[in-house]
Amino acid sequence: MIAVLYGFAVLVSLLGFIFGIFSGSLLLFFGFFLGGIIIATLFVALARVLERQELMIQILETWLMEKNRNNKETQKICPHCQSAHDEKLKSCPICGFRY
Ligand SMILES: [Zn+2]
Repeated sequence: MIAVLYGFAVLVSLLGFIFGIFSGSLLLFFGFFLGGIIIATLFVALARVLERQELMIQILETWLMEKNRNNKETQKICPHCQSAHDEKLKSCPICGFRY
């Protein structure tokens, strides 16, 4: 998706340039050329936003996985009812068993 957007950006600026050359007048050339550049800039901006989003999702997923793993490591199992809970608690929140 991101590569496609970058491809569109290059294509649009090239098309603007080519149409500009074949338009025959200097004013139209600049019009097409600038139009192509502006649209290409929008495509590049969109691609960069998507890139950032994918990076943020990756960071969040690693963070969540790390957090879940840490949670499992710091939990303890009640010997009375076998439920998992925070190891800092002095008694089981499910059955009230005291350590
Ligand atoms: Zn318990």
